[in-house]
Amino acid sequence: MSGKTFYIETFGCQMNAHDSEKVVGALIARGYEPVETPEEAGLVLYNTCSIRDKAEQKVFSRLQQFKRQAGKGKLFGVLGCVAQQEGERIFERAPHVSLVAGSASYTRLGEMLTRIEAGERRVAGLSLDTGETFDTPFPRRDNPHRACITIVEGCDKSCAYCVVPFTRGHERSRAAESVMAEARGLAERGYTEIQLLGQNVNSYRDPSPAAWDFAALLARVAAIPGIRRVRYTTSHPRDFVKAIVDAMDSNPVICDHVHLPVQSGSTRVLAAMQRLYTRDEYMRRVEWIKTARRPCALTTDIIVGFPGETGRDFDETLRLLDEVEFDSLFSFKYSPRPKTAALAMNDPIPPAEKQARLLVLQEKQRAIQIRRNAAWIGRAAEVLVEGRNQALGQWIGRTSDNRILNFTHPGSNGDSLEGRYLPVRVTRAGPNSLVGESASMV
Ligand code: SF4
Repeated sequence: MSGKTFYIETFGCQMNAHDSEKVVGALIARGYEPVETPEEAGLVLYNTCSIRDKAEQKVFSRLQQFKRQAGKGKLFGVLGCVAQQEGERIFERAPHVSLVAGSASYTRLGEMLTRIEAGERRVAGLSLDTGETFDTPFPRRDNPHRACITIVEGCDKSCAYCVVPFTRGHERSRAAESVMAEARGLAERGYTEIQLLGQNVNSYRDPSPAAWDFAALLARVAAIPGIRRVRYTTSHPRDFVKAIVDAMDSNPVICDHVHLPVQSGSTRVLAAMQRLYTRDEYMRRVEWIKTARRPCALTTDIIVGFPGETGRDFDETLRLLDEVEFDSLFSFKYSPRPKTAALAMNDPIPPAEKQARLLVLQEKQRAIQIRRNAAWIGRAAEVLVEGRNQALGQWIGRTSDNRILNFTHPGSNGDSLEGRYLPVRVTRAGPNSLVGESASMV
């Protein structure tokens, strides 16, 4: 290997991004140094996502790009969901790959690297039946102010389109004591924002005798001195109980934002998706959130063109958008995934029709976002400053309700504001962000 250097590229969701922080921590603890490009690295890792076919293809195309460099001292590894899903077949498809490991095996990464460093050609870590997933104590966090903590791994639901139960295994909750210890440690090191992560975060149940549920854990993390914001993602509507909104109501440290994926506005399609709730049950949760004591942003995920989705089903999704007025949404065309129940379903919707539905949905949502963001003009919001846009001469802030609010702060005299909490008055709004000026300056 050409020196102990590594490069990691991460695809997919926030869980994956945080998993990469754990992997980077493990590599640095073993004496590896991060480098900026795959060309410079002795070890190139791809932490992959298999939620959609496109994301999966991207990884194999990356591997092809560097094929010729393998064997000249450069090693390649595939981590994450594609690794778990494809397993040792990856060695056949991309013979220059030396390491294939799913997320449940990252605690054994050190041992796997030892074998590779000793010259073993192909090493795989694909066991899913492990309770050790959380024992990666030194994640190397990129951001010095906001930190993620995984509290639940895997998923016990069986949504008909989703590959996660096959790539991340059964649901395992982390002991509350361990979550609290990590959160307290982060607060002591100056972190002020914590995001609790799980594929299905609100089905959390403390495995220790205290048996805290998600709302109890949320309230306790929010009560840690020094923590100013707590977020969580992703919630499943079936497990989203009123106690979560009550915890948000009684503790302003818990951010004014719920991400609650609905996937479809049609009860018929929801049943086919095996989502375990109806449109009415989803709307009841929306009602709880909309009647919370302080205004709360609501965002969602929607899949269009699920097998059998009729024009009428799609219209129901559009009506749902009008009724709920989400603050933002992630929308996707249905993507068939291996091993999932939807793969066997008759899918008569032509691709062009799926694309047309996606565009209609996105256009409608854009109009809603323009309207909702415009309502912020003239109001002030507190932001956590995340960075600087030099070209525009603006600071980049994020509000408690997860809006990006770019702003000017004439008095900063070149000092960095990153990590500070500042009041900002909104002066302009677009579909995806707000613009304003530091309220302390006006
Ligand atoms: S709840 Fe459904 S969509 Fe979410 S990870 Fe589990 S199976 Fe996938």
